[in-house]
Amino acid sequence: MRFDGRVAAVTGGGSGIGAAICERLAAEGATVAALDLAVDRAREVVAGLPGAGAFRADVSDPASIEEALNQVESELGPLAIMVNNAGALAMEHVARVTPLVEKQQQEAAVGPIQTPLDALVRLTDEEWRFVLSVHLDGTFYGTRAAVRRMATRRSGVIINMASVCGIQGCTGHPHYSAAKAGVLGFTRATAKEVIVQGIRVNAVAPGFIDTARNREAVGAARNVNVGGTPAGRLGTPEEIAATVAFLASDDAGFFVGATISPNGGLVTAV
Ligand code: NAD
Repeated sequence: MRFDGRVAAVTGGGSGIGAAICERLAAEGATVAALDLAVDRAREVVAGLPGAGAFRADVSDPASIEEALNQVESELGPLAIMVNNAGALAMEHVARVTPLVEKQQQEAAVGPIQTPLDALVRLTDEEWRFVLSVHLDGTFYGTRAAVRRMATRRSGVIINMASVCGIQGCTGHPHYSAAKAGVLGFTRATAKEVIVQGIRVNAVAPGFIDTARNREAVGAARNVNVGGTPAGRLGTPEEIAATVAFLASDDAGFFVGATISPNGGLVTAV
């Protein structure tokens, strides 16, 4: 029970990877706070977790995340672990790009690719800002709010959810790739600053993970993701949760500003 007596807040805890993180940290003794825009889903996740709570939070709104963490601390206790995991995609962009990715695959099977994705040139300002605001702004607001609380106690762990897209870039997803690369740079700089205050900050950069959101987003491109992964399969949310649990634990005491990438061999040099 590595997290006995520790309060852990998980943004985006209402589904997918975030839900698996809530379950894993709770199974190891943490008192979990699932923070989500979709608070009903977060309530379902924490229903079976002892002492856990669900809190409404919009990570792209600094006042909302501060308010949620105030509630967490007054209801559950001092924040020890913060996982900035919430994520969202610009679904209209995904719907535009995915059929063209499939068309490119068909063309590539018989000759040169003729069809441009035009993902970048058709990406709207609103889509760019939306994805940056949830992933990058959200990680900043969540980390700042956590450090404000942890620094006074000179103790805490923060884990930011990045992606292989932030390391190598993902074709057709420049906004998401930029946001996740930003998360990695932000993690490194923050980690170096706050380690002297007893706070460890690290990042997890998953490869392709079998969540409902991913199934909806990639459609038939799922086969490409599986085929491009040397392990020959997608990862599970539980495998990402296990990585988060390691980084949150005292076993990871010398990890500062690191990126751990569970990705089935997709990216081996991080
Ligand atoms: P998901 O859609 O299943 O879960 C994301 C959760 O975040 C949802 O419950 C959603 O309601 C919540 N959310 C969205 N916007 C929010 C906001 N503004 N404030 C608070 N909560 C908000 O997604 P997932 O696949 O579990 O992904 C979780 C994280 O892992 C994301 O950061 C994602 O980019 C990252 N990731 C996912 C994969 C993958 O293949 N699924 C791969 C690499 C990285």
